[in-house]
Amino acid sequence: MKTAIVWFRRDLRLTDNPALEAALGQFENVVALYIHAPDEEAPWAPGAASRWWLHHSLAALSESLAARGGRLRLERGDSGQVLLQVARQTGAQAVFWNRLYEPALVRRDTAIKQLLTESGLQATSCNGALLFEPWTVKTGGGGPYKVFTPFWRSCQRDLSALVAPRPAPTRLSCTSDGGGIELQALELLPRIRWDVGMSRHWQPGEVGALARLDQFVEAAVLRYDEDRNRPDRPGSSRLSPHLHFGELSPRQALAAASRPDLTGSAGAESFIRELGWREFAHHLLYHFPHTTDAPLDGRFTGLEWQDDPAALAAWQRGRTGFPIVDAGMRELWETGWMHNRVRMIVASLLTKNLFMRWQDGARWFWDTLVDADLAANTLGWQWTAGCGADAAPYYRVFNPVLQAEKFDPERQYLRRWLPELAALPDKWLARPWEAPSEVLGKAGVTLGNQYPLPVVDPRGSRDDALRRFERLTSMSRP
Ligand SMILES: Cc1cc2nc3c(=O)[nH]c(=O)nc-3n(C[C@H](O)[C@H](O)[C@H](O)COP(=O)(O)OP(=O)(O)OC[C@H]3O[C@@H](n4cnc5c(N)ncnc54)[C@H](O)[C@@H]3O)c2cc1C
Repeated sequence: MKTAIVWFRRDLRLTDNPALEAALGQFENVVALYIHAPDEEAPWAPGAASRWWLHHSLAALSESLAARGGRLRLERGDSGQVLLQVARQTGAQAVFWNRLYEPALVRRDTAIKQLLTESGLQATSCNGALLFEPWTVKTGGGGPYKVFTPFWRSCQRDLSALVAPRPAPTRLSCTSDGGGIELQALELLPRIRWDVGMSRHWQPGEVGALARLDQFVEAAVLRYDEDRNRPDRPGSSRLSPHLHFGELSPRQALAAASRPDLTGSAGAESFIRELGWREFAHHLLYHFPHTTDAPLDGRFTGLEWQDDPAALAAWQRGRTGFPIVDAGMRELWETGWMHNRVRMIVASLLTKNLFMRWQDGARWFWDTLVDADLAANTLGWQWTAGCGADAAPYYRVFNPVLQAEKFDPERQYLRRWLPELAALPDKWLARPWEAPSEVLGKAGVTLGNQYPLPVVDPRGSRDDALRRFERLTSMSRP
């Protein structure tokens, strides 16, 4: 019987999975294989929240395969060697996978393709993660884009030519050779069980992803254009971890938002544009792989950031004294996710007011986000710090008070995450340090004790950061 290995990575789904479909089209029997090799992703091996998600997502994929007569084989070790070994054991003649675009993985996969081919195996990679692969979108001059709007304009021309998502196979003929290790042996779950909050908020796996997509398209997409900026409302899709782990393909998300009854609506258009930002992030990371650690805009390389471990710890723990920042950081800690608007505000406070390296913030997000994604995280941090592609200019500093008052008008988001401030009147909730002492007393709030005073003077620190940026950019003017 002709057998092929389908090497699952971050495409943990059966629907619209090009590698799986291609393998089933050419071979009678497949070995569904996942190899745990975090060292191969160094220095960006999955963080703690991602590992939690991965555990549950693998369990879900295993169940879906079993329901179709298949089986997920789990292995650990050097991916190239494991693939050769499993091919030998099962008599597989080919390996199929969907491509990834992080610099370390591009290098690894290129080497593995060569290894497999030299060993006489067919090695086929497919596109299952993006609408458009990074090298297919080019400027007029043939190079990569650095600005989102023309990039997305160029993609939009080809959106209608994309093939529709493909259904999941109904039955699979998988080898039942019994090899592999147990999921528990991958040790993905935390030893100290801080993951209870995440279990309450998420259902990792393809079934959870499709349910989330369905719910969003039925209940929220038409209002997305307005509500996406409101952290107090369930206005955005929360599909990011599902998309990151490939439990849902971007084509499925695009198709759902392109239903005839939604076509042309501001909400659906705006959601599709956000999928465009995901594409853009991958485009940038692929073409500028150094940006995970260094600014895309080289002028910013010489900036001397501040080192302040105590302020960094206060930021990480949601104890900065700025309610919108603290609410976001606590949402992140509890759920593994943070609203996009709040991500920008907390990142702006860290890089512009506290003047700390965006890389420090990116690392914390990497470990705590369930949707931690090297492309999107790098783009988000560089964008906010003002040193990336299509950057918010360095002089755009988010005011944490005005942002909270505008985007959380009834202070519901603040009250949800900061119960110790909940009794403050709306007027003072986003700026408790300005509240008269009798108001604080009546609300049972003691600043500097139960809730901190601001770690930094917002106005003074902003001016200071702007001066440093200004010096740097004027020095590097031709
Ligand atoms: C400092 C910072 C760090 C970030 N880190 C990450 C990260 O590690 N992983 C991540 O997926 N997103 C990251 N983002 C982007 C964005 O905040 C999240 O994608 C979004 O909040 C996810 O929520 P959602 O699924 O409800 O998004 P929706 O608003 O429903 O958008 C739909 C999808 O589009 C994609 N998307 C939306 N906005 C962006 C964006 N700005 N860049 C890239 N893709 C986008 C996501 O896949 C998202 O699921 C970051 C943003 C900032 C400012």
